[in-house]
Amino acid sequence: MPEAPKCPQKAGEEESVVAAENKKVLEFIEDITMNADQVQPKVLAEILSRNANVEYLQRHGLGGHTDAQTFKKTMPVITYEDIQPDINRIANGDKSPILCSQPISEFLTSSGTSGGERKLMPTIEEELGRRSKLYSLLMPVMSQFVPGLEQGKGMYFLFIKYEAKTPGGLAARPVLTSYYKSSYFKNRQPDPYTNYTSPNEAILCPDSYQSMYAQMLCGLCQRHEVLRVGAVFASGFIRAIRFLEKHWKPLCNDIRTGTVNSQITEPSVREAVMRILRPDPKLADFVEGECKKERWQGIITRIWPNTKYVDVIVTGTMSQYIPTLDYYSNGLPLVCTMYASSECYFGVNLNPLCKPSEVSYTLIPTMAYFEFLPIHNDKEQQEELVDLTDVKLGQEYELVVTTYAGLYRYRVGDVLRVSGFKNKAPQFNFVCRKNVVLSIDSDKTDEVELQNAVKNAVTHLLPFDAHLTEYTSYADTTTIPGHYVLFWELTLKGSTPVHPSVFEDCCLAIEESLNSVYRQGRVADKSIGALEIKVVEEGTFDKLMDYAISLGASINQYKTPRCVKFAPIIELLNSRVVSSFFSPKCPKWIPGHKQWATMHMD
Ligand code: AMP
Repeated sequence: MPEAPKCPQKAGEEESVVAAENKKVLEFIEDITMNADQVQPKVLAEILSRNANVEYLQRHGLGGHTDAQTFKKTMPVITYEDIQPDINRIANGDKSPILCSQPISEFLTSSGTSGGERKLMPTIEEELGRRSKLYSLLMPVMSQFVPGLEQGKGMYFLFIKYEAKTPGGLAARPVLTSYYKSSYFKNRQPDPYTNYTSPNEAILCPDSYQSMYAQMLCGLCQRHEVLRVGAVFASGFIRAIRFLEKHWKPLCNDIRTGTVNSQITEPSVREAVMRILRPDPKLADFVEGECKKERWQGIITRIWPNTKYVDVIVTGTMSQYIPTLDYYSNGLPLVCTMYASSECYFGVNLNPLCKPSEVSYTLIPTMAYFEFLPIHNDKEQQEELVDLTDVKLGQEYELVVTTYAGLYRYRVGDVLRVSGFKNKAPQFNFVCRKNVVLSIDSDKTDEVELQNAVKNAVTHLLPFDAHLTEYTSYADTTTIPGHYVLFWELTLKGSTPVHPSVFEDCCLAIEESLNSVYRQGRVADKSIGALEIKVVEEGTFDKLMDYAISLGASINQYKTPRCVKFAPIIELLNSRVVSSFFSPKCPKWIPGHKQWATMHMD
């Protein structure tokens, strides 16, 4: 965007304003981490006193108490399923204070699922302010390590997703869609740290192709101003690079002529792009020259030469994308700035330039009341939950939150390990999401879901007297987008050969049986590729067991892993593939919950 040139004095003034703001934020972090032990009971008391009259707390007999001791004694530690009846009532239009005294403003649709459908997290208007507060901490922290970021722009690929309405009329949408559509984002004050190459109109365009096209075009036009690039998750950023790989020709054409491709039909997006786009044959030649090259190694630094880092989450399952990002960025720092969820925004990374494997998040004590359920791998042990400032270095815990929006002692499902402390506030490595075996984008498939899906699929084999003897799976991220691969070992007793279309039906049957986040990724977001079944030679799974035993597994206790990640094992399996099949089409997916669709039809 051609901005008014800054006169030096003004620029100097602006820098000192930014520096003063940064200092304030860093002092805030210092202060709340220093006083984490006092902040946390205050947060709990505030949540409980405001909500003293809500049905849920009364039902459990908290009786207006606001102290941690009574709270812990009285209130159960819960999962989503425990409050699902309450959530359904709210979704169906019950406006009485069930979980929270403040009106529920909307539902945030989590990528965590229950019964195959996204979990619905009720939220309140003021939570937007809390989320915005957490965002405001990120750049002051970053600027301590990378100075001068206020002098350029961020090229971030940000998207809104489908939203639905509950039968009671509340919006149900992902937390980021809610945030980008809020005035906190749309009407943000001019701030050098939220100065993005993507115009709001492009980010807020519901058509993901037009949105991506416009964001990429604007990013290319402002390539010299770009100092940092990113997306929320690594998978999203790689998808943007892949988009450039596929669509650089029309993009270059638009840059050359200064006009927007006719596929971009949304008038507000066209207008917003036209504010930035100028006919620039030289730039078009340059981008074309780079994109034509066979090797895309370092494409980010070639096209956006001033980029200092790639801002994407690569912790958790996203770590599978690190090699691809390293390749495209020529090893630029990969920066994970924050840890958040639909339930609550949790914390920030205070040492953002550290290696991805060392990322630790400092939970911000004002966001919610945090408790920690110790995890013992040897046996299920009933143990007391621990407070934020009482966690032990090196110990793993499941995160439990009590939020301003009305979740009380709610198990988030994430496993965290204490890696250190910032003053009194602990810092955590993200270890994993409990039970998840497969993930490509925001989909999270657990072993039981996979097992059920496979069970549904193998019914297609019965007429051929073919039986599945063993299977395992892995998330193949070498393709873009990545896809689920299942290795199947079969016993074929029938005389009729199994036609390839039968295996394709099996692929589709698995996809149809997976949860709605997976199916949305396949259908709407196109962030997950077609599922693949690779049939392996008989005896392959015995070889797999031999291999595991050679690595020290016990023969008696050996169980076929339902998901494999270790490269030599994947190699072994791949070396014995006899045929492979892909899902021939996308599974069915509709926005909103299955039961709402039926309700509307009634
Ligand atoms: P959602 O409820 O769909 O917003 O997903 C939230 C979940 O995404 C969290 O509970 C984590 O499992 C995962 N997540 C969020 N931020 C991070 C992060 N920085 N590193 C790893 N996993 C994350």
